[in-house]
Amino acid sequence: MANLGIPQNTIEILQKHKFNFQKKFGQNFLIDTGVLERIIDAAQITPEDCVLEIGPGIGTMTQYLAERAGRVVAVEIDKALIPILKETLAPYENVTVINDDILKVDMEKLAREYNAGRPIKVVANLPYYITTPIIMGLFESHVPLQSITIMVQKEVADRMQVGPGTKDYGALSLAVQYYAKPEIVANVPPNCFIPRPNVGSAVIRLTRYEKPPVEVADEKKMFALIRASFNQRRKTLVNGLGNAGNLNVTKERVAQVLEEMGLSPTVRGETFTLEQFAQLSNLL
Ligand code: SAM
Repeated sequence: MANLGIPQNTIEILQKHKFNFQKKFGQNFLIDTGVLERIIDAAQITPEDCVLEIGPGIGTMTQYLAERAGRVVAVEIDKALIPILKETLAPYENVTVINDDILKVDMEKLAREYNAGRPIKVVANLPYYITTPIIMGLFESHVPLQSITIMVQKEVADRMQVGPGTKDYGALSLAVQYYAKPEIVANVPPNCFIPRPNVGSAVIRLTRYEKPPVEVADEKKMFALIRASFNQRRKTLVNGLGNAGNLNVTKERVAQVLEEMGLSPTVRGETFTLEQFAQLSNLL
């Protein structure tokens, strides 16, 4: 089967099947063999691995994954791509394509069925319109995971990696860094895709921690605090958390806990580290 990372081969398949790109599905197909190899190398795929690919498109990266992994399960929402995948993945017996919406798939069940419940690797050139729900869904559900290696919008990759005190720092940074170690492995310009996206992209690898780096008694409560702090970014923590209806804390209690932590009552959430959010949550 022709390597679809070569632009001419992708164009031929698209023309043969008279494929129409669907903007609503975030379809930008990779046409750069160098970038494909970087992704596969960063994901450190071995024959022992079961890989979940989200959005295989016409199967470009799926072919690379199938060459290296023991098993590949690819979930694609667009029905029109299924006959194309049947053709481009015909030589690979270790690939299963599922026509479904990844946000509706029970991924824990997939891991059970295809990898006997052992940790899987996720590799994807993600549809950018649902990057955050996909990542949060993977972390918050109980999918056994080793790592997630994904192409995302450059700005979103930066948000996942930064620490406190920068403009990109927010709820996504803290959530990702609670569950995994993030590393940007490549920056990818728009001309590596067909059609070209309007934004720069980056490949980021998130390696799941066996145990989170901070101890927190109630994860849900900590994430509710984090969300409330960044919803009202410009407010002090005392005002932001004291005004959030769903948290059940008073401004006075927040001020008291900040004092116990040796902090000023005028601090803002954007300066707070993960350790400080964990401590705040435990004390509250
Ligand atoms: N992996 C291919 C590649 O690299 O060339 C395609 C990547 S493209 C950025 C994103 C893919 O995700 C498209 O094939 C799109 O149809 C698919 N997709 C979009 N929303 C999806 C969803 N909710 N569930 C599963 N797949 C989805």
